[in-house]
Amino acid sequence: MKSIVVANWKMNPPTFREAKKLFDATKKAAERCRDISLIIAPPAIYLHELSANYKGKRISFAVQNAHSEESGAQTGEISIAQARDAGAGYVLVGHSERRAVGETNDDTRKKVAAALSLKMTPVLCIGETSRSSSGEHFSIIAEQLLAGIRDVPPAKISKVIIAYEPVWAIGGETTMSPRDMHTMAIFIRKTVVGVYGDVGHKVTILYGASVGEQNATAMMRDGDVRGFIVGHVSTNAERFTALLQALKKES
Ligand code: PEP
Repeated sequence: MKSIVVANWKMNPPTFREAKKLFDATKKAAERCRDISLIIAPPAIYLHELSANYKGKRISFAVQNAHSEESGAQTGEISIAQARDAGAGYVLVGHSERRAVGETNDDTRKKVAAALSLKMTPVLCIGETSRSSSGEHFSIIAEQLLAGIRDVPPAKISKVIIAYEPVWAIGGETTMSPRDMHTMAIFIRKTVVGVYGDVGHKVTILYGASVGEQNATAMMRDGDVRGFIVGHVSTNAERFTALLQALKKES
């Protein structure tokens, strides 16, 4: 089974010209990694031009956010249908930076369901903002997870990607330990299986937060994940190439 790497460019780079340069370098790296499915989530304004000019098969595209309604009076929003029309096959839902500006668990429920109904793959991002020894983060994760998948019928649960992103580890250089990720992956799977039965085992789990060439292989080997969401390192062509190469050696 191929590993999955989502390159979340966030609000970078500042010009389309630079985005094209980053895309070309990323494409070159992706072509050397047959066992990795690469999904690039550029700023939405760059999406159509990048996807329309890409003729290969190794890269897919995602939007970093989209509205669950198909059309309507939603100034400043982009619908999932519009994202699909612009070339996206995936939609990030509930990223912590969206939750921080007001996205709720109920919004994620609608977006996950809307994406699936348009045959797009939702990447449901869940993660606690901090941790204490009380283990409260498990109930936060269960709440975000169960809310996000609430309207997903059993026949479609295997099409949902769950990205666990501990918010306290995003944007730095230190990932959570693979051992802790392994525990979290078991918890996530158990929670999904608790609702859906055995088919819940098929859910895909990614890790995201400060993944780079220095820590990706250990996490892939011991973290019980299928791949990663990569933020700041994905906009550094040299480091992202090194990361893909490291994963290639691992597979
Ligand atoms: C993210 O925000 O999705 C992310 C993975 O960020 P970073 O890799 O920069 O921690």
